[in-house]
Amino acid sequence: MSDYTDTLNALATSTETAVVALYERFLAGDITEAEFVELGTVALEVANARGAALADLALATQLSVQRKEPVPTVGLSSTRTKTVARQAILDALTEDGDATEAVRVAVRAETLAGAQDAYHEGMQEQGVKAWTRVLNSGACKLCQDLAGDVLPGHAEMYHHKGCGCSQKPVGEEPNGNSTRSGRSRNNRGRNTRGRDAAGPRNVVTVAI
Ligand SMILES: [Zn+2]
Repeated sequence: MSDYTDTLNALATSTETAVVALYERFLAGDITEAEFVELGTVALEVANARGAALADLALATQLSVQRKEPVPTVGLSSTRTKTVARQAILDALTEDGDATEAVRVAVRAETLAGAQDAYHEGMQEQGVKAWTRVLNSGACKLCQDLAGDVLPGHAEMYHHKGCGCSQKPVGEEPNGNSTRSGRSRNNRGRNTRGRDAAGPRNVVTVAI
């Protein structure tokens, strides 16, 4: 699954680079602040859509390998609204200190969080019973301490701002052997949102 984590972090890097470039155009007087906010919001929406598609494909591929049968994607779309994306940009502009860095951090965090939320939604739709955390390279001490736990499928992954960790289903072997007990110290008990309209289902075949 490190491929997914790497790809997701690459998406976050390209998005932050694009939005910081927009911010620098604002600083240079090429565009107004309102234009920067609008363009930055659109860039984040695109990143969130890509993150959701990436999460969908990564999850289906992982399940196909573990279940030893082709598992289709579920047509995940971003769970983040335009309002959330815009607010992330606006909040960064009001932070004290280096505004460019604040924009960079906010855009990265929002991109990663969007994909993490989508992956969680995907696990609900795919009927995943249990999962474990996959650390990104350079994961912080807190996330390292949380690694190794097996949590129920409905439990949301704790992630701090800018956390690049991802989830991985466990106990999906065809003969059962599920490991679903696990500790639940980072199950924050949030209700999961229902999804009633899944998109087109594409069968993903993978080489095992
Ligand atoms: Zn993390």
